Amino acid sequence: GAGLATITKEVDSVCPFCGVGCQLRLHVGPAQESAPEGPQKVHYVTGLDGPANHGRLCVKGRYGFDYIHHPRRLSTPLIRREGVKKDPADIDRVKSGEVALEALFRPASWDEALDFAAGGLKAIRDEALAAGLRGRAIPLAGFGSAKGSNEEAYLFQKLVRQGFATNNVDHCTRLCHASSVAALLEGVGSGAVSNPVADVEQAGLIFLIGANPVVNHPVAATWIKNAVDRGAKLVIADPRRNALSRRATWHLAFRPDTDVALLNGLLHVIIAEGLVDAGFIAERVRGYEALQAAVAEATPERMAEICGIDADTIRAVARAFATSKGSMILWGMGVSQHVHGTDNARGLIALSMITGQIGRPGTGLHPLRGQNNVQGASDAGLIPMMLPNYQRVAEAGVRASFEQLWGEGLLPRLEAEPGLTVVEIMHAASAGRIRGIYVEGENPAMSDPDLNHARAALASLQHLVVQDIFATETALLADVILPASAHAEKWGSYTNTDRLIQPGRPATRPPGEARQDLWAIEQIGRRLGLPWAYWTAADGDGQAAAEAPVARVYEEMRQAMEPLAGVPWSRLVRENAVMTPAAREDAPGEAIVFIDRFPTDDGRAHLVPTTFAAGPETRDADYPLVLTTGRVLEHWHTGAMTRHASMLEAIAPAPLVQMHPLDAEPLGIADGAAIRMATRHGEVQAVAVLTPEVQRGQVFMAFAYWEAAANRLTGDALDAVAKIPGFKVTAVQVQPVAAA
Ligand code: SF4
Repeated sequence: GAGLATITKEVDSVCPFCGVGCQLRLHVGPAQESAPEGPQKVHYVTGLDGPANHGRLCVKGRYGFDYIHHPRRLSTPLIRREGVKKDPADIDRVKSGEVALEALFRPASWDEALDFAAGGLKAIRDEALAAGLRGRAIPLAGFGSAKGSNEEAYLFQKLVRQGFATNNVDHCTRLCHASSVAALLEGVGSGAVSNPVADVEQAGLIFLIGANPVVNHPVAATWIKNAVDRGAKLVIADPRRNALSRRATWHLAFRPDTDVALLNGLLHVIIAEGLVDAGFIAERVRGYEALQAAVAEATPERMAEICGIDADTIRAVARAFATSKGSMILWGMGVSQHVHGTDNARGLIALSMITGQIGRPGTGLHPLRGQNNVQGASDAGLIPMMLPNYQRVAEAGVRASFEQLWGEGLLPRLEAEPGLTVVEIMHAASAGRIRGIYVEGENPAMSDPDLNHARAALASLQHLVVQDIFATETALLADVILPASAHAEKWGSYTNTDRLIQPGRPATRPPGEARQDLWAIEQIGRRLGLPWAYWTAADGDGQAAAEAPVARVYEEMRQAMEPLAGVPWSRLVRENAVMTPAAREDAPGEAIVFIDRFPTDDGRAHLVPTTFAAGPETRDADYPLVLTTGRVLEHWHTGAMTRHASMLEAIAPAPLVQMHPLDAEPLGIADGAAIRMATRHGEVQAVAVLTPEVQRGQVFMAFAYWEAAANRLTGDALDAVAKIPGFKVTAVQVQPVAAA
């Protein structure tokens, strides 16, 4: 027990899981009491008084840390054994213990593994360049990670751009908030939040749509509860009910995929009833007339027929939103993960703008970021169309400034053509147009839609390099696996959902031969011909954490990123948390932005009208229900970390599917029954939980379980603007599994 362990070191850091960014203290001591000088481990974790958590932690942050000491951590580089073919079926075989990892891979030295990893990438690159291929046609791609640090994200995108000679670099923000970011950049000129979550305490009305913070941002949910207890109105718009619903003034359980209709109904009422902020619109908004015209026909009665929320409720919510002293919108994947995700976010931006509910405490737009560093990884340029700080690769002036900062890469010039996105890379792989991929800390063989297709695409690659802390589903399809460092084993900075940048500090050493991610990225870069020297001889061999190389990368990144101008590494480490943008070193950063202008070309917000259209996943007699995928409190995304955390796995060990009792009954499905789910894309088996939390016609499951990989069921149709897949809506049939 925690009370019995000898604690010899306390390390202040930040939680590795969600975007709330809770500060915590890692309590470290000998793994064996009898060997005080032997290996050290984290015995327990406590909350610190950080700006985002004030001492609080959720179950993941408090109890989810022991994955770092799990016996299945990768501790030596691995190379695929000669003659062992890549077979997606091996994923389940290894995961279930039927086949040993060692049957597929042999241990290798770092030198051999790095030479092999980089050599394979280089051969593909050189052949492509010799054949005259350029830009996105270079058959190489890189997937960075939103779990890694800002420095890792920055160096990784630089590696792909300079070393692979292409912009084919992306990460999982494509699968979560790409549509929100696209709409925000277009609408208000910045992809980040306007106000921190804790601002809900100043709001008169909180509009929470497509988000379940009790599960996905638990500590942030506590600020929402406090605000409601103090009198704020809470509007929840979500097809599914959640633990906050009983505190809500209204829970709008609209039909899945009809967000645009609901939002246009609200916009219509606000305009028709003269509840707009005319002064704000005149001064700060462009495109109001077009929006007005577009929603003129979207009467509450008409929209009610589509979305299933009655017209009077739409009216009441619209009035309350427009007239409260401050209305703040928070949203999650329920808004963004649709083939019309960009339109959904455009509707939210319009709602905020025409009512002037922005630029003050308790107002604004807050896309709740999922992973600990989605904000930072995007800021750092892990995006195929943008260099760091959302500067477009297509602009010659932008490229010139990075060429000056970075010096010459493999080619003297950076590529102008935007790269392929996550799902486009998978399509290109299955068509043979992408032949090599370097995956650092991501798990596309679980997180991508239409997994049967995605796994086959990964298996078909000529060369797949995976760098991770466990043999993830993706790693099991690799040619070479590089064992990396867990969050608690390295230095790095992380940017939370509020734009707060905080340092992570090392508490223990990586197991065996596992090394620092930043070191491994640099080693690959050097072998691809880049003259990098972030990691000097004095910083060690990449095994123990080193602060200096991380600080070097950070300081280079800061030169390209204006929001970090006032945050040198020394300040970050001294203050532990700095709100960005921070222009000056001697002043706090800006918690609330857009106070008097938007960072667009004319300083105004740009409204983009939308109209409701049904998505591609049509329900019919064969596939009569709607499947929505998401997360559970205990498991983090694809489960790579949390399913190796003993406490969390003990609480939530099995894939459960929520189903409405009235849908289950005619199918003869009882609570706890085994079910078979099939879509046009694939099938899985799981266990049914009957609950009225989901609405009739809807089923819900988490995507963390390899045993019932939810993304075997989802399709890969994309939002036209942001290229995000529609994870939230898949037509599905559910059948009981006949008892044997
Ligand atoms: Fe970690 Fe998020 Fe939980 Fe905070 S709320 S402890 S950041 S998982």
